[in-house]
Amino acid sequence: MKMLIAGEWVDKEKKIPVYNPYDGKVIDNIPAGSKEDVLKAIEAAVEGYQISKKLPVHKRMEILWRVTDYIKNNFEDFAKTIATEGSKTIREARKEVARCINTISISAEEARRILGETIPFDSFPGGETRVGYYYRFPIGVIVAITPFNDPLNLVAHKLGPAIAAGNSVVLKPATDTPLSALKLGEAFMDSGLPPKILNIVTGRGSEIGDVLVSHPAVRMITLTGGVEAGLEILKNSGLKKIGMELGSNCPVIVCDDADMDRAVELSVSGAFWAVGQNCIGVQRMYIFEKIFDEFTNKFVEKTKKMKVGYQLDEDTDMGPVINEKEAKRIEEWVNDAVKQGGKILTGGKRKGTIYDPTVMVDVPEDAKLAVEEVFGPVVLFYKVNDLDEAIQKSNSVNYGLHSAIFTQDINRAFKAIHELDFGSVIINDSTDYRLDMMPFGGVKNSGLGREGIKFSLLEMTEPKVVCFNL
Ligand code: NAP
Repeated sequence: MKMLIAGEWVDKEKKIPVYNPYDGKVIDNIPAGSKEDVLKAIEAAVEGYQISKKLPVHKRMEILWRVTDYIKNNFEDFAKTIATEGSKTIREARKEVARCINTISISAEEARRILGETIPFDSFPGGETRVGYYYRFPIGVIVAITPFNDPLNLVAHKLGPAIAAGNSVVLKPATDTPLSALKLGEAFMDSGLPPKILNIVTGRGSEIGDVLVSHPAVRMITLTGGVEAGLEILKNSGLKKIGMELGSNCPVIVCDDADMDRAVELSVSGAFWAVGQNCIGVQRMYIFEKIFDEFTNKFVEKTKKMKVGYQLDEDTDMGPVINEKEAKRIEEWVNDAVKQGGKILTGGKRKGTIYDPTVMVDVPEDAKLAVEEVFGPVVLFYKVNDLDEAIQKSNSVNYGLHSAIFTQDINRAFKAIHELDFGSVIINDSTDYRLDMMPFGGVKNSGLGREGIKFSLLEMTEPKVVCFNL
């Protein structure tokens, strides 16, 4: 596929292959965008902003609704693209397409609710002759940088609100999975988005990222990705608005009064969805001592039944890791944890990009595997005596995106709500739950700001005060 600059689909002699992670076959090639291409895309977006900010809201809404129709009409093609360039199974990919339709629909709906307020200027002496209000105006050129693991819907979380608010965009999708994003770009162009408002540059972040994020015409950078990329971008960006949706290491607490079967079912899915390459995937489980053995046996039994293999087969439960380098990295972290005393209850084996779903106990709490984000199909079990211990251990890492607790006791639930230091506390579900309209984001190394359309719209607009002195 080609990249999109100033309304033209642009190719380059130098290409980057896109692989199917299961068999390593090349499925397409994308242009290796250069620094000059980035500059052209930003120049186009500067002109695009002069068009987008004047587009009436009802026109923006119309375009967004047409994009949802386009995705509905090409549903299976989008799903196959996600499942071919990435790790998700075809069933997981279909869920992502359905969520992408929600994300763009919510963007269309929220476009008409970008509101302001009147300001009571006469509430302090001296303001008696003044009346006024504030409204929200678009921020300008937004650079959006997206990760490989939800290659369609996380792009929609940037493009939907950016365009609903009247901004222009330069998007740089993940190099491993650029095709879903380019197809979404086609959907926008087919739906009547005027040229130059949306530009998509393909190329490696390590090569073109600095020019992209440091350009003074760019008013906001919104990244979804890892902490390392986040820190690098912060170093290069200069004074700009920043939104960052970064990684995590999510804990789930299972109390002794929990509905055991439900906790097992939802936690297995939460741990291994998208091969655990999921910012809200279950990584650490704190299980009350009384139920530890029973819970562990049931969890391991269910994990062993998972069918791991080719992502496009309808009955596959878990596909390959995104590439062999990542699969080897996961293997290395697990092996290191084993050397430190960790025990593998199931899994722990790699064949190429396939890494079996893995359950471990006795991993030291300061092992890399316990402290950092594994971003793979590995879950660690810890026995706890009570809720205080579970909460203290849950909070012990430097991430804070989602947390979860299974309990039937409302007091335990509220204690967890108040004491877990995370962007969300999910009760009686795993951490892997997200509705696309909720405020989504975390504390500590998990990021800055919130996504979820209404909240993205606040980040992607600025208030302008209007004051009349009568
Ligand atoms: P990544 O390696 O950080 O890459 C993310 C994006 O940043 C890619 O497009 C990458 O480009 C680009 N990039 C890397 N270095 C850059 C630089 N110096 N300047 C500009 N752009 C740069 O992350 P990933 O492996 O694709 O995704 C996994 C990470 O994303 C995990 O940490 C996961 O938790 C996080 N994530 C967070 C959320 C959330 O909402 N909180 C959701 C999903 C994923 P290239 O692809 O060309 O390297």
